[in-house]
Amino acid sequence: MALRLPHMVPSDVPREAVPRPPLPLTVEGGCHCGAVRFRATFRTYDASDCNCSMCTKKAIVHLIVPKEDFTLLRGKDALSTYRFNTMTAAHHFCKTCGIHAFYVPRSHPDGFSVNGRSVEGIELSWFTVRAFDGQNWEASVHTLR
Ligand SMILES: [Zn+2]
Repeated sequence: MALRLPHMVPSDVPREAVPRPPLPLTVEGGCHCGAVRFRATFRTYDASDCNCSMCTKKAIVHLIVPKEDFTLLRGKDALSTYRFNTMTAAHHFCKTCGIHAFYVPRSHPDGFSVNGRSVEGIELSWFTVRAFDGQNWEASVHTLR
């Protein structure tokens, strides 16, 4: 019989579902090394999963918020930014650990897309994740706005 410490939960036992809190929900998140931290407020449980060349490689779960619902707590100088194609989206990532915690999406240049995988204290199962056809961006963008 293996020693099982109280905080260890075997992976084959379903975790008790954490109930979805009421909205608005204010959360914090950041990169892996801790250089980049943000706070965001979600007013919906809408999320999107984009199939473009960038989002698939990063496995981003997009939680899009207006700029007034996003605060960069620290790490402005820790970020680097990658741009491609139309150069509109600002794909920020931590220069130290490489994690893409949030960025400015082409679809919402006045807001932010928080990467749901970089937010602490939430369950992605709370969100309704809609597929976004980023491979056909111009024809699809109306579905996000
Ligand atoms: Zn980092």
